[in-house]
Amino acid sequence: MAHDFRRPSRSPLANIRVSFEFFPPKSAEMEAALWDAITRLEPLDPSFVSVTYGAGGSTRERTHSTVARIVRETSLKPAAHLTCVAATREEVDEVVRAYHAAGVRHIVALRGDPVSGPGSVYEPHPGGYATSTALIEGIRRQGDFEVTVSAYPEKHPESATLDADIDVLKAKVDAGATRAITQFFFDNAHYLRYVERVRARGINIPIVPGIVPVQNFRQTASFAKKTGASVPQWLADRFEGLEEDPATRRLIAAAVAAEQVLDLVDHGVTDFHFYTMNKADLVYAICHLLGLRSHLTERAA
Ligand code: FAD
Repeated sequence: MAHDFRRPSRSPLANIRVSFEFFPPKSAEMEAALWDAITRLEPLDPSFVSVTYGAGGSTRERTHSTVARIVRETSLKPAAHLTCVAATREEVDEVVRAYHAAGVRHIVALRGDPVSGPGSVYEPHPGGYATSTALIEGIRRQGDFEVTVSAYPEKHPESATLDADIDVLKAKVDAGATRAITQFFFDNAHYLRYVERVRARGINIPIVPGIVPVQNFRQTASFAKKTGASVPQWLADRFEGLEEDPATRRLIAAAVAAEQVLDLVDHGVTDFHFYTMNKADLVYAICHLLGLRSHLTERAA
């Protein structure tokens, strides 16, 4: 269903909640860019902000220090991503305890990708948590954490069927997960059908759509291929011929994401998770369209 921009069906858009995902920076320059993004997005009062964990556990320290700085320097509630990859259970438990000590009470628990990258066979670390379900149980043994997990509207590439994938989600919920964030998708029908099937399976936790504003079409399309997210031809067509025209690309990206989230709102969706890529402006604009305003401005008024 196309959204009619002239007649917003929910005006003002009430009860919308957002969360933002960042990745830990690799250099001083990237750190400055991340903090510009955090500072710009913080006044929108997100439910939480999450910080990813590098493939193969490569960012253990950087994820921790980014999350700890968010606790120290902002009013935001951080969620730390954590995977089972390349670590023993004791090492993972130690990371969880360090988060608890730093005041973090929310973990995004993931199995993680195989060490040699998506597409290769996943081998659990000997002595490590073998699945995301085992990791969730481990986290909950360490303390009172809110645990969010992944969900795959177009199924995880390793799952034989969507039903098998939903079985994994059910196991994660039974282990204590209280929210799922989806892999990004561009065709809302995938998400809406998926939520229907998940509900039919008796899973009642929020299934928050993960929205990726297309900062760079080629990169997004190649990432989508690895993650099993489909890229519709209409999306490719919209970015066609704009390889050397970043300004127009950004306008198109804003329009595409706006159309997607407003259509989801029309279908009753109230919570959105944005993959920010550590850049604020597109996400800020989309949140503005969703009716979110800086609480700093409100206070000043
Ligand atoms: P799960 O949902 O646990 O399972 C993935 C697949 O493994 C299943 O579909 C199934 O085929 C199989 N499987 C799992 N458990 C069982 C079982 N008990 N029995 C049989 N088969 C099983 N990656 C990172 O490295 N760092 C991150 O910070 C990160 N953040 C992410 C955030 C979100 C919101 C999403 C959607 C993904 C994220 N990923 C991240 C990617 C994720 O690590 C990969 O997709 C990974 O391949 C699967 O991890 P998972 O926890 O999603 O897997």
